[in-house]
Amino acid sequence: MSKKGFTTKSLHSGFAKQDPHKALQFPMYGTVAYEFDNAEQISANFKGEYQAHVYSRTSNPTVEHFELKLKELTQSFGVLAVSSGMAAISNTLLSILKSRDNIIAGRHLFGHTYALLKQTLPEFGVETKFSGLSDKAEIENLVDEKTRAIFFETVTNPQLEIADISILSEICKKHNLLLIADSTMTPPNVFRANQFRVDVEVVSTTKYISGGATTFGGAIIDHGSYDWSLNPNCSTYVQKFGENAFIAKLRKNIYRHTGGTMTAQTALLQSQGLDILELRVEKCYQNCMELCKFLESHPKIKNVGYPGLATSSQYGLAKKYFNGIPGTILTFDLESQEECFAFMNSLQIIKRATNLNDNKSLIIHPYSTIYVEFPEQERKAMKIHETMLRLSVGIENVEDLIGDIRSSLS
Ligand SMILES: *Cc1c(COP(=O)(O)O)cnc(C)c1O
Repeated sequence: MSKKGFTTKSLHSGFAKQDPHKALQFPMYGTVAYEFDNAEQISANFKGEYQAHVYSRTSNPTVEHFELKLKELTQSFGVLAVSSGMAAISNTLLSILKSRDNIIAGRHLFGHTYALLKQTLPEFGVETKFSGLSDKAEIENLVDEKTRAIFFETVTNPQLEIADISILSEICKKHNLLLIADSTMTPPNVFRANQFRVDVEVVSTTKYISGGATTFGGAIIDHGSYDWSLNPNCSTYVQKFGENAFIAKLRKNIYRHTGGTMTAQTALLQSQGLDILELRVEKCYQNCMELCKFLESHPKIKNVGYPGLATSSQYGLAKKYFNGIPGTILTFDLESQEECFAFMNSLQIIKRATNLNDNKSLIIHPYSTIYVEFPEQERKAMKIHETMLRLSVGIENVEDLIGDIRSSLS
């Protein structure tokens, strides 16, 4: 099965148990609890001697189906589905860190991830050292005996910068650190994380995987490449669960006790999202390239940013890691904030909204929205300018998108 293409594999992924009706679509188990045949059986379950679903906050057949499908598609060791991208990130960090530990993270991060690292975790004694991600010496200088991981985003947003993952994995290997990638921008049909020794992926499945902004979700993907006995916060789980220590700690402790559960309804929609993921990403990419061509030729547009363009400084990395498809978000500049607003206000098809990788094309002015709470200097340092717009390219017919942009510029 593993040699088949992404979409074939997704559509034909097996069921953990045969369906009594031979349904072709995995059923939606909208239930909280599950019955046991007798008192001995439920007791055996609680003692860990008999495996079964018990209570859907900890596991549910439809959610399990989504996890197994994602596991197969990413060729990974284990997958845990959770309620959102932020749940994936927070559960992962809570599992590997304790008070006085630290991690190293890229400077350009999704806003709420940055706030988690900068505001929330320090209150629990966990420090983040922010760094550029291309200079090996800069990163290595930050490593100390309490450093547990390097965390980065595969493509930063809206800067659209790509980290050189091979440098990060080399440092991690040398210092026994876990390498965690937020790969939300580069879904598993374009990014094979385990080929580049990313140990754990965290994903906001709300974005591409949900199938078009249908539901919130997140996934934690363990690629099985990290020796969990090297992390003192996981080592007791290694004694009992071996290679499965990280997922076991999540399931038996962090995830179970913080309650960031994916619902069965969500898992059903997201499984269907996986089936058409490759089709949608390919269409978004084609639209992206067509739009770049149009935007670059338009006299009012400056600085078209898309790392999938051969002229981009990031193109080499985009080819190396993402098969030339570094997500489907692009940026461009107009003359001023006023021009950006006027342009946005006259769009008829492209929606003014703060999401990514919907089936619909979405536009936002990051400077006055997502980053508005940051002081001017911090925004400048993050390369967020008042003339820049971010466009998340959807699957519409591209001539309609071009027409919408052309008439809104005139
Ligand atoms: C959206 C996003 C998140 C957060 O995901 P939610 O599902 O909204 O919690 C995290 N990282 C990246 C890169 C994102 O784009």
